[in-house]
Amino acid sequence: MTLTFPYRFAIALFGEDGTELGTIAVKRDWEPAAEWTRLRFQRRGELALDANGSASVLPLWEELLGEPYCCGYRVQITQPGGQAVASDFPITDFRDFANATASAFVEQKRLREGEVYTYMVVAHPTAPEAPDAGGLQVTNASPRIPAGDASLDSFLVRATPHGAPDVLDIPVFVSSQVLEEAAAQTRACQGTETGGVLIGSLWRDRTAGEIFAEVKAQIPAEHAAGTKVRLTFTPTTWTAAEAALRLRGRGEIYLGYWHSHPVREWCKTRTCTLEAQKVCRFAKDFFSADDEAVMRAAFPRAYCVAIVANDTAFTDLTFSMFGNHQGMIRPRGFYILEEQRNVA
Ligand SMILES: [Zn+2]
Repeated sequence: MTLTFPYRFAIALFGEDGTELGTIAVKRDWEPAAEWTRLRFQRRGELALDANGSASVLPLWEELLGEPYCCGYRVQITQPGGQAVASDFPITDFRDFANATASAFVEQKRLREGEVYTYMVVAHPTAPEAPDAGGLQVTNASPRIPAGDASLDSFLVRATPHGAPDVLDIPVFVSSQVLEEAAAQTRACQGTETGGVLIGSLWRDRTAGEIFAEVKAQIPAEHAAGTKVRLTFTPTTWTAAEAALRLRGRGEIYLGYWHSHPVREWCKTRTCTLEAQKVCRFAKDFFSADDEAVMRAAFPRAYCVAIVANDTAFTDLTFSMFGNHQGMIRPRGFYILEEQRNVA
């Protein structure tokens, strides 16, 4: 899929009294929004699983002010001989970039520390005569989604929801054995981060108009370098994961990764009390910028998920899941699948 940018987006920052402080070209990663859009329409059967069309990022004009002011943006995918499909995204997606711009302005003394600012997003057409004038086109390899046919109901009847699964997200089923292994590995490595690669299958239920994922196993990242704060997957980890996938020989794919957060250890070094840990933002549903970077680099597809094992001192191990939700990595619900134990 090729991502094209017929418009250039910029942020205009205004100070407390409404003076315009400057306009800065937006730098952001648009691919998660494009990936999300593609999967959204593949789920509904409106885009082929091997959809190799072209996606464009377009402005949504602000109703009252009109062009060039935006109230959001649209990712539109056109496929040869097919109908165009599109998802709209809110202006709040630019908030992180606006905050970063404001910080830079404070450093440059263009904005006072603590001064309230507002921002607007503007878009201008890119010059058609300069199609390669720097980052206007991004191509991603986007291989076909390898989904076999299965009934969603046959999974739901033997699953227990964990958290609140949202209809906007694809259903993800995780084998209880994967969670048991992750828990055991986390306890064995208490104090340092540990993790693994999640593997399994994608399924399509044509009747329900849904694609869903089944996480069947985890491959421990034995060769990853774990520290108190960060787990990195080394090339040796990937070689081991590839070998394990081949050995299993079931046509499984990478569905994401899991890692532990040794919160009890982090809190020790910060000398947090037990009471403070209970409300600590690291104790549950915390996904760091590093965690997002791993996700983006290694598991960029919209169906990929990350599981975090929260190891705190005040309660048993808990699990959080994160995934691409409308183009942003957000905590999400999932289903735990009891293993079908074979009776001899
Ligand atoms: Zn983490």
